[in-house]
Amino acid sequence: MAEIRVENLQKSFGSFNAVRNSNFIVDNGEFLALLGPSGCGKTTTLRMIAGLELPSSGQILLDGSDVTMLRARDRDIAFVFQLFALYPHMNVRRNMAYPLVNQGMPKAEVTQRVEETARLLQINHLLDRSVSGLAGGDRQRVALGRAIVRRPACFLMDEPLGTLDTEFRDKMVHELRELHSRIGATTVYVTHDQLEAMSMADKIAVMSNGVIEQYGTPEEIYNRPATMFVADFIGSPPMNFIRFDGGLKKGDTSVTIGRQPVLVPEIREDIAPTKLALGVRPEHIRFDDRSGLRGQVFETAYLGTSQIVAVDIGGTMIKARTSSSRKLSAGDAVGLTFDGPRLSLFDEASGRAIHTALNNGGLNG
Ligand code: ATP
Repeated sequence: MAEIRVENLQKSFGSFNAVRNSNFIVDNGEFLALLGPSGCGKTTTLRMIAGLELPSSGQILLDGSDVTMLRARDRDIAFVFQLFALYPHMNVRRNMAYPLVNQGMPKAEVTQRVEETARLLQINHLLDRSVSGLAGGDRQRVALGRAIVRRPACFLMDEPLGTLDTEFRDKMVHELRELHSRIGATTVYVTHDQLEAMSMADKIAVMSNGVIEQYGTPEEIYNRPATMFVADFIGSPPMNFIRFDGGLKKGDTSVTIGRQPVLVPEIREDIAPTKLALGVRPEHIRFDDRSGLRGQVFETAYLGTSQIVAVDIGGTMIKARTSSSRKLSAGDAVGLTFDGPRLSLFDEASGRAIHTALNNGGLNG
């Protein structure tokens, strides 16, 4: 096991900055997800940790030792790209033994390690089968086994579930998480899929344009998004932004949207006239006929137990999640309330949250 420490990491390709001043620590045994849209610099970050790409500047420390300039094979790290990458002409046993044989490990030890790993992954009954005849799930486990068998201090995984269909993917997400809690190896996992990141990771680093926008636990990232980018990227549908001009005064308890006052937790400090956005997640909006905040249903989307209802509030469209048992149709007049403690406030110019401005019971404080 090992701690990975990334300090002021930068990578440029010519004049293009793919990774800008990244800093994060993956504690011993922790699972970190690098999450962000295509091209934001996730793979480049991972390749630098693996030793497959040299940084332009900055440092990478493994258990306190500077490995920034070490070659990949001299770092105690296993890199898993696509879990399906197996040697089709070899059976399961030889596929799994391959990295150990390559290291020159004695045969008896190789056999013992392969069998032990196969038991861990519950594929010991498949050891003498050809990989080409295996079902998808078993192939995936063999590929994982080939990475685990080396017992590396760290695993780096780049979209390992990227090609799988949804049903199998959900199963593998669960299995990977289980496996991680059993072997406890420090893991960095690259994905563009927020659900994978939220359900597997201890910590998430959300990236955009080469920058880590926020680094924290899934709960922190969901409840206290540091930027509008994070608030928009996490959650489905994403957080609603209700934009308004004119700043706020200390002691204010409402903001005005389309000439209607919306109750908010007490404002703690003056915020000079500027463009602001109130952030509210669809699941933190309630339909309440007695509420003074009025809107009109624009459309509904049925999702089984819940539905997403788009509501027009004086020209601002917001999406609310509510039980599908509530009967709502386009054109209905509705009243809404927002769950005050769950609200966020953003400065639109910088895109950054102003958490400290809202006196909302400490959630954003
Ligand atoms: P994806 O999921 O699409 O791979 P990513 O977040 O992993 O996205 P990277 O692969 O790290 O993104 O790429 C970040 C940016 O750096 C992209 O714009 C990419 O085109 C660029 N890039 C990556 N490798 C090179 C390279 N060797 N030469 C030039 N540009 C590169």
